[in-house]
Parts: sequence; C-alpha cells; structure tokens
Amino acid sequence: MSERKRLVLKIGSSLLANTDHLTLRYAFMHGVLSDVAKLREEGTDVILTSSGSVAIGMSVIDADPETAGILDKQAAAACGQPLLMNAYKQIALEYGFDIAQVLVTLEDLEDRRRFLNVKNTITRLLENGVMPIVNENDSVTTQEIKVGDNDRLAAKVAQMIQADNLMILTSVDGLYDRNPEDPEAKHVPVVEDVSGYLDVTDSVSALGTGGMLTKMKAANMAQNAGVTTLIAKGENEAPMTAVLNGSRRHTRCVANGDPDSSWRIWLTDRLQQAGGLTVNKEMAEKLRDKRTSIEGSDLVSIQGEFTKGDVLHVYDEDGEELARGMTNFTSAEVMLLARNPGEDPESLLGYEVKPRVIAADNMALIQDHHLTWEAPTDEMKLVS
Ligand code: GLU
Repeated sequence: MSERKRLVLKIGSSLLANTDHLTLRYAFMHGVLSDVAKLREEGTDVILTSSGSVAIGMSVIDADPETAGILDKQAAAACGQPLLMNAYKQIALEYGFDIAQVLVTLEDLEDRRRFLNVKNTITRLLENGVMPIVNENDSVTTQEIKVGDNDRLAAKVAQMIQADNLMILTSVDGLYDRNPEDPEAKHVPVVEDVSGYLDVTDSVSALGTGGMLTKMKAANMAQNAGVTTLIAKGENEAPMTAVLNGSRRHTRCVANGDPDSSWRIWLTDRLQQAGGLTVNKEMAEKLRDKRTSIEGSDLVSIQGEFTKGDVLHVYDEDGEELARGMTNFTSAEVMLLARNPGEDPESLLGYEVKPRVIAADNMALIQDHHLTWEAPTDEMKLVS
C-alpha cells in the first residue's frame, strides 16, 4: 500500500460564522467536507484546525464581538465549540466519515512530553480513518497562556504529524505586497522567505484573532519543517481541491527542502518565550560555529523566570539571537551557578548534576530561515 499524504487545513472564523448573525455558514462547511471526502479517497488524510467557537458562541451568551472581554470569549467558546462540532459531525457523516475533537492548550504544544501525547492521539485517530478537528481550549485559557491564533496552532500540528501541506483558508486570496485595499497592491503567488513580508502584513480580520502576520509566522514554521503552506480564499465551491489543482489563486509558501530533525524543529519553533540567556563573547563565538553546551560561567545575564525543561532563547551581548535550547535548571538555579563559577555545583544545588545549563544535544542554532525573537525585557537580572 502506498504512503498516504497528510494535509493540515486551517479554517478561519470569518468563513465559519456569518458576520451579521454569528450563525454557522453551512454551505461553506458542506463544500469543505465534500472536498475532504474526495481527498481522503485519493489518499490524503486531512487534519482540520477549526476556529469559530468564540464567534459562534457569542450569540448564545448575548455578547457583542466588538466589546467582548476575555471572560465573554471563554464562555462563548464553551457554547460555540459543541455547536461547531455537532455541525461538523452531522455533515461529515453525510460524506461517509467520522470526526473527533482534539482541544489543546499552549502547554500541550510547548512541553515536549505533552506535545508527543497529542501527536500520538492524532496519529491513532488517523489510523482509524477519523478526521481530528483541533482547536485551542479557549474556555480554560487566559490571555497570558494562550496560543491565541489558530494559524500558528495549525503550523504546530503540521510539524507534529509531518504533514505534506498546510492549507490556510481565509477571507483573502493570499498575501499582498502591501495592504490589499491599496489599488497598487500586488498579489504574491510564491514566497520563499517570509521575513520580507512581516512589516506589510499586520492586519486582522473582523471575527478572527490572526491576521496575515500570524499566517506568515505559521508559514515560516511550516517551511522549517519541510511543509508547504497554501493560503487562499475559502469559497463554497471546491474550497480545497481548486487550490490544490492550481485553478484558484493562492499564495504558496515553499517548504524548506532540507529540514532539521523534528527535535530541533520543536526546539526552534516556539509559541511563547519562556526566558533568555545572554552569553559572553567567547561562548557567542563558539555558538556561531557549532552547538556547544552552555555552563553558568558562560553567562552574562539571564532574563525571565523559567523552570527546568523550558526552552530558552540564547543571545549575544548585542542582543542577536544565536540559539534556542532546553534548560536543565530553573532560573534561580542558573543564577546560583552563574554567580559562583568556582564552586562545586553539587554543593551549590544540593543534588548530583552535570553543570550544563543547556546541553549541546538539547540545542538548535538559529539559522537564516528562522524568525528571531527580541530578548525579553522583563526582569533582566545581571549576573554579578
Ligand atoms: N480558537 C478560536 C476560536 O475557536 C480562534 C482563534 C483564531 O481565530 O485564530 O474561536
């Protein structure tokens, strides 16, 4: 039997909910699931990342999307998610397949063990021919601990299951080189490097949370993992197949042909920044060359409060990001090690340790194709 392909489809809120009445757009959902059925028959498994729970739930709790606060959104998501899933289930059964709900939080993607748990669940569903429908568990997450947008969430899923394609259906037919309302704006059919478009893409749709900026960030994550992203307008008629066969205009963000290992991809493509380390000149030089374990004595400062197992961003003294890696210690322990370079780490920490803050094996170097992050400004603690 030949290998089945995998496609992650992301559908935005503006396609699923009527802007005026905040009710479901059934005709569009029929179009999507009929296309999914076709693709499944032709050998492609689809994993859906669906927004819409917040928008659909708004009318149930009598809230206005324009003024809704975080509590309203959490409650709306709790009302909207079952409505959404009920509709998907009914329609999918008409096209001969079943669906399942997978709700995740930021931590399920940022913590390695939980990430692998989600991966196993999705893989198990696919093996049984059930289409997973993934969304953020908005009812239990607050602003600070949210993924926030389903574009990057879908990209994470695409990385997780090593998809061939990520398709993002939205209200515009792809990326433009400036605001699409500008008469001079030109459609961009192919993107190799998203970094040139980050300034021109910071606009957000009326109902969703992500704009073109989050789509470009998502496309970059997908590219890094060898996944091609297709961004297109979601039409009722053949919403997916018309894009895949090239008959509908879209933007194609081309996959990196030589992706890193899935471990290093997971290390580099973060959704939130847990903390940072600034290393001295000697260590910065070494890291420009190759992965090298970082010890307390290599540090100039640390940023943020982090815990063992968090992925930290590593900077040189000019703020250039050099690497990302998993810390073996909490921020308090790193401070102790860094402030007492001559002392025995075991007597400092009270347990047996190798004094490597980040081991070379748990590190990925930043390369040209990665989008870098600024060092966190909070709680810059200088090592004395
Ligand atoms: N998780 C949100 C929802 O279901 C959508 C997030 C987004 O718009 O990207 O409504």
